[in-house]
Amino acid sequence: MIQQNPVFHDVADAWWIVVSKENILQYSEQPGLIRGSWQTLTEFHAWQDDVIQVGEVDSLPCYMLDLESQFVATDELDSLSLRAMLMQLPGELFSVVSRAWQVALFLRTHRFCGCCGNKMSRVDWELATQCHTCHHRCYPRISPCIIVAIRKGNQILLAKGAHHKNDMYSTLAGFVESGETLEQAVHREVFEEVGVKVKNLEYFASQPWPFPHSLMCGFLAEYDSGDINVDGEEIIAAQFYDFDALPNIPPKFSIAGRLISATEQKIRNG
Ligand SMILES: [Zn+2]
Repeated sequence: MIQQNPVFHDVADAWWIVVSKENILQYSEQPGLIRGSWQTLTEFHAWQDDVIQVGEVDSLPCYMLDLESQFVATDELDSLSLRAMLMQLPGELFSVVSRAWQVALFLRTHRFCGCCGNKMSRVDWELATQCHTCHHRCYPRISPCIIVAIRKGNQILLAKGAHHKNDMYSTLAGFVESGETLEQAVHREVFEEVGVKVKNLEYFASQPWPFPHSLMCGFLAEYDSGDINVDGEEIIAAQFYDFDALPNIPPKFSIAGRLISATEQKIRNG
């Protein structure tokens, strides 16, 4: 899927994910992801050795170009935060921009070997960096996280995280620890964050989430026992809600939003 030596010079039309610092560039006159042929994108020609193909959407190749911090905004080009750009893109472009950002971040953070400290270089047969002194090789980092919707009778448990904006309540989530299964992580995180036990876990779906490199693994679960007792650090409030009186919840395209819908559906279906 990810090619490092694309023939991009002659492609008539393509999507261009141009990364600058923590942002994605766009033309002021044409907001959204940049599209066109390389020949027309003259302002980026100085970076031609850094073009990487990160996917394909609707038969058009998608290329990533990381300008790091070298780009200065002009009248024609401005930048949008990764989050703001992602929120306005349809599903397939969302995925490819997520991937592009993670590839850029990987290359930025693997310039030197973690074993011997020498310079790393990219290998040309897969997306990896390699140390030619000690042969240590690195791949893009992916951090698995569990995310779980807990139902009790006709209600769902929703919690307010310490960092949630807009008074948003969501499903519980947390990173999987070394040596843990996804199921163990669900039981541990739920108990740590809200003090309850759950049962009958059911795998739902997964979603890559590029802030910065999570893979959200979604589960549906049933409440088993215990009283809600929030940890006060990651979670500052939590309670079971009826579906006709939900608080502000995450958007439908996020896996949290989909888990909440799926729980409602399960309750309706009895
Ligand atoms: Zn090394």
